[in-house]
Amino acid sequence: MPKTPLALVSPTQAELDTDAKDTAPAIYVTQPALPPLEEFIPYLQEIWDNKILTNGGPFHQQLEKALCEYLGVKHLALFSNGTLGLVTALQALRVTGEVITTPYSFVATAHSLLWNGIKPVFADVDPDTLNLDPAKIEAAITPHTTAIMPVHCYGHPCDVDAIQKIADNYNLRVIYDAAHAFAVQDEGGSVLRHGDLSVLSFHATKVFNTFEGGAIVCPDAKTKQRIDHLKNFGFVDETTVVAPGINGKMSEINAAFGMLQLQHVDAALAKRQSIDAVYRGALQNVPGIRCLQDAGERVANYSYFPILVGADYPLSRDGLYQKLKDNGIHARRYFYPLISEFPMYRGMVSAHRENLPVASAAAQKVLCLPIYPAMGEDNQKRVIEIILATF
Ligand SMILES: *Cc1c(COP(=O)(O)O)cnc(C)c1O
Repeated sequence: MPKTPLALVSPTQAELDTDAKDTAPAIYVTQPALPPLEEFIPYLQEIWDNKILTNGGPFHQQLEKALCEYLGVKHLALFSNGTLGLVTALQALRVTGEVITTPYSFVATAHSLLWNGIKPVFADVDPDTLNLDPAKIEAAITPHTTAIMPVHCYGHPCDVDAIQKIADNYNLRVIYDAAHAFAVQDEGGSVLRHGDLSVLSFHATKVFNTFEGGAIVCPDAKTKQRIDHLKNFGFVDETTVVAPGINGKMSEINAAFGMLQLQHVDAALAKRQSIDAVYRGALQNVPGIRCLQDAGERVANYSYFPILVGADYPLSRDGLYQKLKDNGIHARRYFYPLISEFPMYRGMVSAHRENLPVASAAAQKVLCLPIYPAMGEDNQKRVIEIILATF
């Protein structure tokens, strides 16, 4: 097997060409946390022995239980990825019409609405957290609005109380895209307990990964049961199908890997925390660089390290992005372009840039710096030195 770098985001040929000229190895925005391979072999042996590969097998059941305990939530349904979790969450609550959501996210957030024939209505974000601004949500409500789909962007919790108040006043559902919010807690416990449902992603790029994977966190056993039917074609038993369900089941190999990953996740989160602290210390007084602050969470997950490059910095955001790239460091412009800029959305009135001034400005300034458990001091020093070296 050739030894290729396991980059989160596959490098383009141009990037690879650049890398080839560099003496130092490339640094990507993230690198998946992988435990030692030999630790996974016993799990594989168990699967080979019992011949159960999927359909809610023993590892699937174990991981649902273990994640409920680890995250501090009551019920959770595993999925083969987070996007199918979002699509199924909307089905489970029978959401129709219009849903208010954020343009400042990964494109799957709004795509899950289109896949359900729902019209996304984009509202602007708060300049401090870059999460949906509750006042803008309220202003976007129409007689067709049935739900809100906010994102805990970068793992920083939304203004959950204000959002719930609006939902209660207007009788709306709330489905959180919590793809970034694994293990995040506020004063009352897991941030995943808020809203009607929360959807996690365990994609390779996320804080906790099962290669591909995801989950819906739900408040009661009845909702979980409906979701479990929906993710298995609508089957209730051998001969009964109650809904036009999909195949969203997590396989035993992914679930087994999740069980192993859980043993390492605390160490991974601690490493992320120290990398975050080093960046903040090094960049706090750099003119024109603003490190995004947390949103007051009691337990953070340090999933991303977004900086905003302002006018006082000698380079533009794209200038810094390019300079890092020229030095083999692949920072990423999450989230640029905004979801509302993509062709299937940009014709919508709510997608117009003048309706989204805060998100539009952030998309022009943001740069996510590399952060991952195995990053190491030397790699981080390289990133910081390039940012500082422009003065
Ligand atoms: C990663 C991500 C998703 C999609 O999750 P997958 O598991 O890759 O399908 C959805 N929303 C956000 C905000 C994400 O970052």
